[in-house]
Amino acid sequence: MITLRNVTKTYHRKKISTEALKKINLQIEQGDIYGVIGYSGAGKSTLVRLVNYLERPTSGEVIVDGKHLAELSPHNLREIKKEIGMIFQQFNLLESKTIFQNVAMPLILAKKKKAVIKERVTELLAFVGLADKAASYPSELSGGQKQRVGIARALASNPKILLCDEATSALDPHTTQAILDLLKKVNREYGITIMLITHEMAVIQQICNKVAVMEQGNIIEQGSVVSVFGNPKHATTKGFVQTVVKNELPTSIKTKLSENVITQLYRLDMVGDHATEPILYHLFHTFHLQVNVIFTNMAEIQDSVLAVWYLEIEGDETNKQRAWSFLAEHDVKVEEVTI
Ligand code: ADP
Ligand code: MG
Repeated sequence: MITLRNVTKTYHRKKISTEALKKINLQIEQGDIYGVIGYSGAGKSTLVRLVNYLERPTSGEVIVDGKHLAELSPHNLREIKKEIGMIFQQFNLLESKTIFQNVAMPLILAKKKKAVIKERVTELLAFVGLADKAASYPSELSGGQKQRVGIARALASNPKILLCDEATSALDPHTTQAILDLLKKVNREYGITIMLITHEMAVIQQICNKVAVMEQGNIIEQGSVVSVFGNPKHATTKGFVQTVVKNELPTSIKTKLSENVITQLYRLDMVGDHATEPILYHLFHTFHLQVNVIFTNMAEIQDSVLAVWYLEIEGDETNKQRAWSFLAEHDVKVEEVTI
């Protein structure tokens, strides 16, 4: 649905040039909720603005719905832009217009008939849960409600793609959850592909199926959310994962352990069905090992469970080796931990 090939973007301002994007390759499939995460200044907004050609790449190709954007005539570019809706952190609503008029704006600009506009806007306001706010003004709405208006307006022209740039960053956690649920509904019921920019890993965890991690204009890691959360490679990715999956030993436990000199401490990582298998049972009964649970954490990601266990495991070396083979066969990663 969206392909970026060797895309770079360099800004030139007052003799200073900034390489906002260095060499980006990205593939978003139809139906994806694709998350892009990174710290401020990583290049996320630049990236998303290339997709609807608010920015042009310095080099490389941007292909949307099979079309190379650079090769399109101004008319065809306008047509494809109608397939792409966008929502923002600051909502960007027109304060002097009613909610109805705000949502109707893209349709008015497209010169649709009044009756068509009325029907579509009414349907959209009901979809986002604001049927009773048609005559209100943006200043009368909460942040969450304003973002619902933003979503309804973005959907007005029946887009195939919805771009979200930090759409929940100005909202409290409860409202964020409600907006993410609404975006999920947009994806599911309208089949709209979503590209979502955020600096919060919890947002990725809740709705994305794929993720790319950006740092200083590069994508440093990408893949399915389960694989990136389950096995983050880059230090920055590990930091982001840590914010939602507490997979490192807490300092208080580390301090206690260092006082008691535990020598046989192991970390077990598992994803999906394996996380709910009777691993402990097998360690005890099948392999005759003594197991002491030191710390565990489990998190739900994309209908899957991610688990990390820190276990003190004592026993015969041969039995341990047999246990490690058994665990490897069940996709459980075992690693000895030194404090
Ligand atoms: P993010 O959204 O991840 O915070 P941005 O894409 O906004 O990052 O910015 C990436 C880099 O490009 C930053 O160093 C920023 O200062 C620079 N940048 C972004 N937009 C412009 C612009 N219009 N002109 C000059 N520099 C810009
Ligand atoms: Mg940004």
